[in-house]
Amino acid sequence: MLSKVLIANRGEIALRILRACKELGIATVAVYSEADREQPYLALADQTVCIGPPAAGKSYLNMTAILSAASITGAEAIHPGYGFLSENAEFAGQVEEAGITFIGPRAETIRLMGDKISAKKAMHAAGVPCIPDSGGALPESADECTTIAAHLGYPVIIKAALGGGGRGMRVVYRPENLTEEISLTRKEAKLAFADDTLYMEKYLEHPRHIEYQVLGDGQGHAIHLGERDCSMQRRNQKMVEESPAPHLPEEQRRQMGKIVADACVRIGYRGAGTFEFLYENNGFHFIEMNTRLQVEHPVTEFVTGVDLVRWQLLIASGSLLTLDQSMIRQQGHAVECRINAEDPHTFFPCPGRVARFHCPGGPGVRVDSYLDNDCQVPPQYDSLVAKVITYGHDRKSALARMQTALEEMHIEGIKTNIPLQQRILNDPGYLKGGMDIHYLEDMLKI
Ligand code: ADP
Repeated sequence: MLSKVLIANRGEIALRILRACKELGIATVAVYSEADREQPYLALADQTVCIGPPAAGKSYLNMTAILSAASITGAEAIHPGYGFLSENAEFAGQVEEAGITFIGPRAETIRLMGDKISAKKAMHAAGVPCIPDSGGALPESADECTTIAAHLGYPVIIKAALGGGGRGMRVVYRPENLTEEISLTRKEAKLAFADDTLYMEKYLEHPRHIEYQVLGDGQGHAIHLGERDCSMQRRNQKMVEESPAPHLPEEQRRQMGKIVADACVRIGYRGAGTFEFLYENNGFHFIEMNTRLQVEHPVTEFVTGVDLVRWQLLIASGSLLTLDQSMIRQQGHAVECRINAEDPHTFFPCPGRVARFHCPGGPGVRVDSYLDNDCQVPPQYDSLVAKVITYGHDRKSALARMQTALEEMHIEGIKTNIPLQQRILNDPGYLKGGMDIHYLEDMLKI
């Protein structure tokens, strides 16, 4: 077992990882920026190290500062959480070179999956169904691109190979706009990702977002832990997630799970990961793999009873994955609402001091949050302040518990999107389940 882990993250996920380490008797090092100096969760760590000023580029994204903190404190491993450096192959490589365990896949796996062209090639070869695409990088020649788009059929989407966070993508509906849109996306990609390699995919107009959770030990074993439906999104940001995905045929659910678990074995996948799919006309289409823990992992933990962070730590300690696919059952239903510090009407971030925080509870209610009475939500980082996750024997009872939990929850001093989440929970389409990824934005226009 690892003896000491450094957590290279902040907020609710830093707390989530701290708790898992404590349960396993692993000592913890929490790092923080100057903006997070007073965060209450830091008191739970065995050691804390300030890694720099508030700007993420100078603290939570500062590889040198984090590696120095690990070396000074004698941490044996680094857990990157999500966001920040979690999918940075260079960081994973530097950590391993320093003789420290990176809690995640090998650097080369992160690199393979971080380039969406190579990721899709690898997944296609492993038998995972992918969206029809340009079959590699787009050529310079406008004529050749026109031929590729005509072959795929409009609309098409132009994407940056190294894109992420919903940036570096453009949808093209008409051939006359293609050349112009490609050149704009190239410029954006160059600026945002320092690489202007692009590819083209068929654009699906009404898909759902369904993703599969996997765990692999990098030593020949891998399993899937079922799927999550994350279709309720605004500007490509997920707002509500659930497991299982409503109205998915059982046989297809199982088949797809087997395909992704087999793909993990094939690439020697180590750690927790997620295969993201667009689901349209009863078909799955792979878009990308996230080589890290996801924000929405608790819904999977509720329905499977598997503690994913604990398994990340065990696998990083060199343990074999002793969970067998036959031991995994999706039982009941779980829903997660993301609570953001933002105006529920304008969506402007609303950081500041939380005067009072009242956390809901009761059977089947889990709240992952770093908030406390009299704490600060700094303006520098993501606005996620809490995740409310509820469980029930079926979807209806999980949603009823969510209604009660959100009514009970009080966050005073800052604005949050709780009223918006409550509106979603009362929406007839959402209650029916199985809406596409545009549903929430359409709902917000009314
Ligand atoms: P990122 O890594 O930036 O999140 P993704 O490739 O995962 O990029 O795509 C983000 C979102 O963009 C998807 O969840 C989906 O909503 C939309 N999208 C991406 N590719 C397609 C496609 N081929 N058809 C329709 N929508 C797409």
